Amino acid sequence: MRASDELKRTQSLGPHRLPDKRAVDSTHSLGFGLLPALQEAPRCHQPLVPVPGSLPCPGALVHPRQTCTHVGSLAPQYFKLSPSAQILLRRARLALLSSRAPHGSFKRVTDVQCGIPAKVIMIIQRVVLNSRPGKNGVPVAENFRMEAAPLPDKITDGQVQARTLYLSVDPYMRCRMNEDTGSDYLLPWQLSEVADGGGIGVVEESKHANFAKGDIVTSFNWPWQTKVILDGRLLQKLDPQLVDGHLSYFLGAAGITGLTSFLGIKEKGHVTQGANQTMVVSGAAGACGSLAGQIGRLEGCSRVVGICGTDEKCSILVSEMGFDAAINYKKGNVAEQLHELCPAGVDVYFDNVGGDISDAVINQMNQNSHIILCGQISQYNKDVPYPPPLPPAVEEIQKARNITRERFLVLNYMDKHEASILQLCQWIKEGKLKVKETVVKRLENIGGAFQSMMTGGNTGKQIVLISE
Ligand code: NAP
Repeated sequence: MRASDELKRTQSLGPHRLPDKRAVDSTHSLGFGLLPALQEAPRCHQPLVPVPGSLPCPGALVHPRQTCTHVGSLAPQYFKLSPSAQILLRRARLALLSSRAPHGSFKRVTDVQCGIPAKVIMIIQRVVLNSRPGKNGVPVAENFRMEAAPLPDKITDGQVQARTLYLSVDPYMRCRMNEDTGSDYLLPWQLSEVADGGGIGVVEESKHANFAKGDIVTSFNWPWQTKVILDGRLLQKLDPQLVDGHLSYFLGAAGITGLTSFLGIKEKGHVTQGANQTMVVSGAAGACGSLAGQIGRLEGCSRVVGICGTDEKCSILVSEMGFDAAINYKKGNVAEQLHELCPAGVDVYFDNVGGDISDAVINQMNQNSHIILCGQISQYNKDVPYPPPLPPAVEEIQKARNITRERFLVLNYMDKHEASILQLCQWIKEGKLKVKETVVKRLENIGGAFQSMMTGGNTGKQIVLISE
């Protein structure tokens, strides 16, 4: 029989013959009979998912909507079938057709009938780098692309399979979009390859002694996928009790973000209790900034002023986060407002943004004061070195006033991470550290979440919820 005849024949056994939807989900698999015919049919571009436990052979996939017409094909990118396996499949199809049950549904074809081991390859969703914005371009959601991809159904020794719960989008990712990150500790993302970053998931299967099913785990290099298989050595186990079950905090206030704010202040801020210091924070309503202002206060600063991009953010900083005042840098003159709001000058500057805002702050800094050089986001879409040099007049002020401006990188203080996380979690539990998050749902929106965070769409930490 020719493929097209087979297709017609199998289509004539279409959905109206099925007793009910459950028959598709459960053991009466219509998918199997259609598979060989669909081999010849145009490739199905719909996302395909395996039907757990219902189908005995490779390639047995049904579209989530469970309609007969979306039964998956043996598309070569998903399955590698040897010629002998193909013959076995053909035989199994004949067995299936001859065993059609009287009420119109199909009997299940067993592994024995099929003659090849059951091996349903899981299809997951993943996000790859679609294009580069260019070193001087503005990143957009379309720089990323979501696609379906197979995940092996078996893990090997030392590996862990996990379902992704939360992913983080962060400003440093901007340089991973360039061919050359300009950094010795960050690798560029490759075109059409899966992007990765901070992530949290729940273990579904483990062949690593340190992890068991149900454990909550994290990695700095979590692939942007709905499910992942990772080397256990790349994973850290998390204790949900530390954050009262609020797992996304591990990507923010109780993770790298919190550590950046806390260790930045501890290592570079020279904050001293009772010294009556004024701290200014730029990018103040973002993930690091909103925590930095609060930690500056907890560590002893007597006055904390934030700079951020909207009136609403300013109001949140003052009414919810305990900042004394906040400046919307998109409105009015930043230098004038700073002068008014910091009458005793600036002793500590937590710098997240660089550029004109930082120049204005440095102008108001006191003798022997300190810049915590956390980040320079206003320069990330420009082809400049990191940290970008200060304009000559500002550099002159910095030198004349002996203002420290040392590079700070949270990853250089790994030995202090554990104790610092415990401190951060304690402050969160005690209500001394208020945590804000902006949560976007679903993997397909991660590119949009990144674009939004880079342009101020977030208040607090930008999180992407992948699954509950
Ligand atoms: P975030 O502040 O939550 O998000 C970025 C924010 O930057 C946006 O919400 C936006 O807020 C602001 N922004 C964007 N473009 C700007 C511009 N041209 N001028 C002024 N503000 C601008 O991000 P984050 O994760 O907390 O990171 C903050 C900074 O810390 C970044 O520079 C990042 O690279 C750095 N960082 C450093 C380390 C380290 O180890 N040194 C670790 C983590 C993060 P507005 O609405 O206020 O514009």
